Amino acid sequence: MGRSSVVAAVAAWAALSAHPAPAAAQDLVVDTTGAAALVDQALSHSAVMQNLEYLTDVIGPRLTGSPAARRANEWTLERFKAYGLDGHLEPWQFGGTWTRGAFRARLTAPRPHEVTAASWAWAPGTGGATLTGPVVRIEASTPDSFVVHRRRVKGAWVMTRVPSLVWNNDGPPMTGADSARQREFSRSVFTPFRDADSATRARMQQFANDVPYLLRRAGALGLVVDAGKEHALLNMSGSPNRILPLPQLVVAHEDFALFDRLLAAGTTPRLAVSIANTLTRDSVTQWNTVAEIRGGEYPGEVVIVGAHLDSWDLGTGATDNGTGAMCTLEAARAIAQAGLKPKRTIRFVLFTGEEQGLIGSRKYAEAHAAEMDSIQAVIVLDNGTGAITGQALQGRGDLEALWRAVLAPVAALGADSVVNRTKGGTDHLSFLPYGVPGFNFNQLERGYNHTHHSQSDTYDMGIAADLMQASAVMAVSAFALANLPGMIPRGERTTPTPVQAVKVSDSLLVKGTGRN
Ligand SMILES: [Zn+2]
Repeated sequence: MGRSSVVAAVAAWAALSAHPAPAAAQDLVVDTTGAAALVDQALSHSAVMQNLEYLTDVIGPRLTGSPAARRANEWTLERFKAYGLDGHLEPWQFGGTWTRGAFRARLTAPRPHEVTAASWAWAPGTGGATLTGPVVRIEASTPDSFVVHRRRVKGAWVMTRVPSLVWNNDGPPMTGADSARQREFSRSVFTPFRDADSATRARMQQFANDVPYLLRRAGALGLVVDAGKEHALLNMSGSPNRILPLPQLVVAHEDFALFDRLLAAGTTPRLAVSIANTLTRDSVTQWNTVAEIRGGEYPGEVVIVGAHLDSWDLGTGATDNGTGAMCTLEAARAIAQAGLKPKRTIRFVLFTGEEQGLIGSRKYAEAHAAEMDSIQAVIVLDNGTGAITGQALQGRGDLEALWRAVLAPVAALGADSVVNRTKGGTDHLSFLPYGVPGFNFNQLERGYNHTHHSQSDTYDMGIAADLMQASAVMAVSAFALANLPGMIPRGERTTPTPVQAVKVSDSLLVKGTGRN
């Protein structure tokens, strides 16, 4: 047998072996051959901005379950194929769809005023009717406090929280007391029962799930929540796994704070709202766009490069996450058009359903559970338009030297910081329970807290030089990980949480309306 056939036989064995044994981290010598060609492709032949423009301006917002999300799947698949990759759309079951309809919210007392607001997603409308009532604020953080206030919600629009602390960045700098107040506010809103025992926490979580149902039963018109951003920017969320039983408006912080001041001064604001949303209950099929460059030596071992393609719909999902999706597409273009052949397969996955709870990536991991030991790593870009500053190790301190070596060729692009940070809220999390090393790149902020889920998340927020840099870093990282001499040591395995609807207390469910 000649040398090349030995290599081929070993490669064939490796490809067939279901569970490639991971190497020791210190043995994973990084070969950065090809990095310069990839950087040149991404910086000098970039298609990232023209692709982002088409995705955001022409296809537009890509709410999972909408026709635009499907168009984005088809268009990205067509782009991957045009760049020479093999690809397909991979189906998964989402849940019911939600379509935003006409919306108007007006203050009718103490003076007429158009309120800057929008319907929360997966919340019902008012059936097109205008529902007018007083705005009340109640304390609904515990069952006891709710009982005290319950009678006041009948026929009212209900606020259940104090206004967010929105800092004026052009004003005087924060004092120590301001920071402490802000920390305390976040703590009380996001982790109110942090210090309680687990049984109490579970009971309070159940109560929080039940609150919208309790409000509906008590005759409330709907919930009013603070967008919590500056300059009338809105916010958005919602999921088919938490369909609300009554309307919920997200109101610009300026208007929410106005309601609160009026109430404190003894003047009851009155709100007139009409919403015409469409909710469907039957689960629909959605798709992840999947394309790959097949590995020359270990085609069964796979580096996944990913981002989510879906978006919220107030803006056009440019920075969340058109930028990540288009950098992923661009990394594919760079590797393919540089003519580089990776040893392992590099698979590019554009997930949908991310905004409703990482559903597309969780379903992907679930469907491919048997292959997870062959996934070298998952690298995700999902923090806006900012240039990549480096990698967050996600608790994998053992991989620090590996990441430093992978990112060494992009040090000149400012992308070589490696920090031991654990990041949440993006698709890499879906793979961690299976022991797959998963990472979400760190990026410059570039206004992401403003554009994120707001109506200002549009194409013009994209920064060309940053996105070209990010595409280069993704391509270089993917190619280096695909060419490592062995598999990266697996992470700790945990039981993956199945995708399921938030559980509402049985006593609150109305018969005949489905699961909730
Ligand atoms: Zn998002």
